[in-house]
Amino acid sequence: MTNEQKNQIATLRQKGCGYATIAQALGLSKSTVTSHCQRNNLGGMKSSTTTPVAPDKKYCKECGKVLMQLSGRKESKFCSKDCRVKWWNSNQEKVNKKAVYTFTCTFCVKTFTAYGNSNRKYCSHDCYIRDRFEGGETV
Ligand SMILES: [Zn+2]
Ligand SMILES: [Zn+2]
Repeated sequence: MTNEQKNQIATLRQKGCGYATIAQALGLSKSTVTSHCQRNNLGGMKSSTTTPVAPDKKYCKECGKVLMQLSGRKESKFCSKDCRVKWWNSNQEKVNKKAVYTFTCTFCVKTFTAYGNSNRKYCSHDCYIRDRFEGGETV
């Protein structure tokens, strides 16, 4: 094996090529390439650079932490309430474009927007309470 071939093997390994591919490209036998790589610490490179990801694992959309899914429960996308709030805050613009509905408050007649078609009648909980308990009494 020439020095040039050795260099080429190292380069190709760094690009993530398999032993067979390298052997073919350089006209060497696969076992020659394999033993050369193992002797020169070029062996495990491919598998160590790509961390295998278990397909059933879910990650928090905000912080990327692995989520513990409880079977039977609704699948959550966040590891915690904090992350959910953070994500929603930073993605509000996107969310807003998707599905924001405009409503008119039954009590104060102010228009307000809410995410999703939730059939809201009041702009705030306050208005809801006031309409329910004071509504009939105001002249
Ligand atoms: Zn998180
Ligand atoms: Zn209101």
